[in-house]
Amino acid sequence: MELTSDLEVIKGIGPSTVSKLHQLKLRSINDLFEYFPRRYEDYSTITEINKIKPGPVSLKAKIKSATGRYARNRLHITEAIASDKTGSVRLIWFNQPYRAQSLKTNENYFISGIFELRRGRLSIMNPSIELVSDLPANTASILAVYPLIKGLDSRTLRQSIRKVSSLFNEIEETLPTDLLKEHKLLKRGEAYRQIHIPNTQDNLNLAKRRLGFEEVLQLSLASLLNKQENKTEKAIRIEFKEDLAKDFVKSLPFKLTNAQRISIWQIMQDLNKSEPMNRLIEGDVGSGKTVVAALPSLMVIKSKYQVAFMAPTEILARQHADTLYELLTPLGLQNKVVLLIGGQKKDQKEKALESIKNGEAGIIVGTHALIQDNVDMHSLALVIIDEQHRFGVNQRKSLMMKAGHMPHVLSLTATPIPRSLALTLYGELDISLLNEKPKDRLPIKTKIVGPAEKERLYKELKAELNAGRQMFVVCPSISDSETSDIKSVESVYDELTKKQFKEFKIGLIHGKLKADQKQKVMEEFLNKNIDILVSTTVIEVGVDVPNASIMVIENAERFGLAQLHQLRGRVGRGKDQGYCYLMLEDSESPSPRLRAMVSSNDGFKLAELDLDIRGPGAIYGTMQHGEIDLRIVNLSDTKLISEAVNAARNLVSNNFDISRYKILESNVNKLRSVTNLN
Ligand code: ADP
Ligand code: MG
Repeated sequence: MELTSDLEVIKGIGPSTVSKLHQLKLRSINDLFEYFPRRYEDYSTITEINKIKPGPVSLKAKIKSATGRYARNRLHITEAIASDKTGSVRLIWFNQPYRAQSLKTNENYFISGIFELRRGRLSIMNPSIELVSDLPANTASILAVYPLIKGLDSRTLRQSIRKVSSLFNEIEETLPTDLLKEHKLLKRGEAYRQIHIPNTQDNLNLAKRRLGFEEVLQLSLASLLNKQENKTEKAIRIEFKEDLAKDFVKSLPFKLTNAQRISIWQIMQDLNKSEPMNRLIEGDVGSGKTVVAALPSLMVIKSKYQVAFMAPTEILARQHADTLYELLTPLGLQNKVVLLIGGQKKDQKEKALESIKNGEAGIIVGTHALIQDNVDMHSLALVIIDEQHRFGVNQRKSLMMKAGHMPHVLSLTATPIPRSLALTLYGELDISLLNEKPKDRLPIKTKIVGPAEKERLYKELKAELNAGRQMFVVCPSISDSETSDIKSVESVYDELTKKQFKEFKIGLIHGKLKADQKQKVMEEFLNKNIDILVSTTVIEVGVDVPNASIMVIENAERFGLAQLHQLRGRVGRGKDQGYCYLMLEDSESPSPRLRAMVSSNDGFKLAELDLDIRGPGAIYGTMQHGEIDLRIVNLSDTKLISEAVNAARNLVSNNFDISRYKILESNVNKLRSVTNLN
């Protein structure tokens, strides 16, 4: 038997278990080892029977008697009495008719389960039980609990792993021995053993530390090596024209925040080098990222080069094109802005393509349409990617390829990345933080609204609408379905038009509408021909309607925290007080997510809370399309993270020869292609 052997070769796991494991995409013993527990149950402390308290308990005791019987409803009950020298306790199993026969009286067993009150009597319900002479897999130890599919339980997985536990010794070491010593890390094989079969809590923690360290080290090496390579590329130097910058800033309808000024300055410094810029602008919704991207774009077109500005949706691309058009009008450069999206008319598109090719187009704003084969850029120097996390690596890369050389890259994101994450994933990326909102913004007032309070709320909202404000109503789905009671835009639109808001003009928008229909609705909303816009999450990203001050989110529990915060960011963008109402489907108490929304308006703080609530995997999922898999490291463990990041820095600055560590090298290379923002 080897690590690469198929699970079929393991003696004692039956074909049905093997086929279940195959369903989990586990084929080899190695795959089985890579399948990490989700959590642990600590049954390692053996308690004497006279000291047990309600809750999880482990005993070492002899079975004194065991009997089985059928109760009403054909329910089978096995009752046994277990004793140690301090006393006796009752054990109960349901629907395990074979139990009574299989128990050997007067033999010593480990017994683990929940001690609880049932029909007025304390018993241990459905306990796991194993002979003391066997290696305990399900009792008297720290038990791994696995993420599972139907018909397969953690016991089976634990037993399967125990059958091949000698192979943990065969797991190859991936890290240099010196590094293990320096950072007091377990050997890899030992770490895997302890992750699956921990013998103490301390060893389990050491195992997590070792594997977590390695995850961060790999990510960090990937981003450092990318950065090193990026430095050897040549980009087009863009000169900073001070007078032009002054004219631009003077023409703005507002004063830039300090954070905006600093970011713009950082970008201009980067552009003035022949080394390609690779900068991320991190700013909460409404922090004013667009204008930060606009000034550098202006410099680029003044130097007779092109900017490609890619946004995730057509609505957003159009809006950016409009904004840039307005921002450049005072300088007479508005005609340099060209839009390219899928939903455009054929002749418009052809005109755009032509001007992109002959260089007349300066700032080319678009969606994925920008990366299509028929787009031929004349002289692309700067690539801007709005809502960066919305694009896959390949899409970002394709856009850069359009330059024919390495362009400068500016990524914008409103998904606030907690510091610990930024440190690992983007450790070596240049980041500008827009940590300050424009001064005139009032914090949005957020409230959770139960079904009983809904009608009263609607009455209040009418006053706001009558005062000239506008409102979004967001629903999770487009149409009603028979199988669920999720609110759909169609039914809510119907209800609001016929009942509560019949005196107002109501619009409807969702992803299935044609591009020109969507555009028409958005324009009507912007021009205040519509008071209420009923929408799916198509308006989640970036849409800017300063006069809209109310956001009602139906079935709020259906949305993730980041999404809710994004949605809320659609209002309160002008001078008026913004309101966000999180509607509950029933009167159950609201989730921690919704309560977090009420407690904070700060995207960074919410991202930290989300990390606590959902764990790191979830955040990575939304950020990186699940391409990065941090399974072990706890992202609030900043100490371990900085230790590993520093270790990676040291390795790179000492010209560490990674090719001597094949597995590490291949893992790092995989991550390099995922994390590279180039
Ligand atoms: P986001 O960071 O969410 O992309 P936008 O760039 O869309 O934000 O800006 C949001 C709104 O704030 C826009 O209407 C924009 O004109 C306005 N804005 C940007 N900067 C400032 C500022 N310094 N002062 C006041 N309003 C600003
Ligand atoms: Mg934006």
